[in-house]
Amino acid sequence: MTDCVFCQIVAGKIPSETRYQDEDVIAFRDINPLAPTHILIIPKKHIPSLTHLTDAEASLIGHMVRVANQLAKDEGIAEGGYRLVINSGEQGGQIVPHLHMHLLGGRRLADRLC
Ligand code: AMP
Ligand code: ZN
Repeated sequence: MTDCVFCQIVAGKIPSETRYQDEDVIAFRDINPLAPTHILIIPKKHIPSLTHLTDAEASLIGHMVRVANQLAKDEGIAEGGYRLVINSGEQGGQIVPHLHMHLLGGRRLADRLC
C-alpha cells in the first residue's frame, strides 16, 4: 500500500513522532493534535477500516487498547481520564483509510460524543 500515508509511516518513509512500537502496532503523535495528548495507535498491517477487520485480526483491537492504556499512563493522563476513538468509513468521520485509534486527553473533552 505505497500510497497509504500510514503505511509510509510504518515503513519509515514519512517521519513521525513515534511513542511506541512492536511487531504488530505503532503509535505516534497526531500531526494536527486536537488535545494536549493526541496519539494514533495503528496496526502495522494495512487494514482499511474496522469494517475490513477479519475475525482472525480482531485481537489486534485489544492489543491497541492495551497500548493506548499504557501510553495514557506514560503521558500522565490516565488518572484524569481520556478517550479512545475509532472512526470508521466516510459517515464515521474516517479520513485516512488505514485503521487507527485516537488517544485523546490532557484536558476536559467535549461532553457530546458527536
Ligand atoms: P481520521 O479522521 O480518524 O481518519 O483521522 C486521521 C488523523 O490522522 C487526523 O487526526 C490527522 O491529523 C492525522 N494524520 C494525517 N496524516 C498524518 C501524519 N503524517 N502524521 C500524523 N498524523 C497524521
Ligand atoms: Zn496503510
